[in-house]
Amino acid sequence: MNKIQTDDNYQSKIDKLIKIMKISGFLNDNKVELAIRNSPRHEFVPKSFLDIAYENMPIPLMKNQTISQPAVVSRMTEWLNVFEGQKILEVGSGSGWQSAILSFLVGHGKIFSIDRHSKLVKFAKENLNKLEIHNVDVILGDGSLGLPTEAPFDRIIITAACKKVPPPLFEQLSTDGLLIAPVGEFVQSLILFKKTPQGIIEIKNQPGYAFVPLFGKFGISEN
Ligand code: SAM
Repeated sequence: MNKIQTDDNYQSKIDKLIKIMKISGFLNDNKVELAIRNSPRHEFVPKSFLDIAYENMPIPLMKNQTISQPAVVSRMTEWLNVFEGQKILEVGSGSGWQSAILSFLVGHGKIFSIDRHSKLVKFAKENLNKLEIHNVDVILGDGSLGLPTEAPFDRIIITAACKKVPPPLFEQLSTDGLLIAPVGEFVQSLILFKKTPQGIIEIKNQPGYAFVPLFGKFGISEN
């Protein structure tokens, strides 16, 4: 058991964060609450930020990236409406925290998570291993291309801002599948899409989010 979990304040810290997310309307689903409680965020933040692991704010990671704000992670997870046994693609592994939450929700299902930075792939793998989470594959690569070898996916989550959703990701979504992404250049809208037999439709759209950008072939050029 690690330092914070043995800390008398641990329970009150997570309880306080859960309460804030509930009051602000970002956490409504008991299953998602359980998944967040089972994915201790302090296992996913760099050591120098342990003190603020349970603040409702993004936290810096290496390579100028961030672990997203808990309330935003909660909202994206709720909108994604994940079921036991599903296969999910995450673009942007970062710390692995979002993957851990999804991993809990899919149970015997599987998460594939891609990041473009090898340091973050290593960091996310280490964090997930510490918690003995074995149904997440963290992969180094350009997530804007998706992961055709494992497609189709029941759910796809993009955790970096894209000007438009990379077309390969819609192609790799199964029929009736859901995809969530922050879409926009400087400020993003969180958009939930569904793939129907007739095509892609927008289910939800909420403006006012700020994510780090999606790079790659179907994101911002890396040159
Ligand atoms: N979901 C992460 C977590 O739980 O910590 C936070 C993700 S962070 C907001 C966005 C991530 O997207 C960064 O780690 C960044 O390296 C990654 N990223 C940006 N463009 C990418 C691309 N084309 N392929 C894969 N990952 C990418």
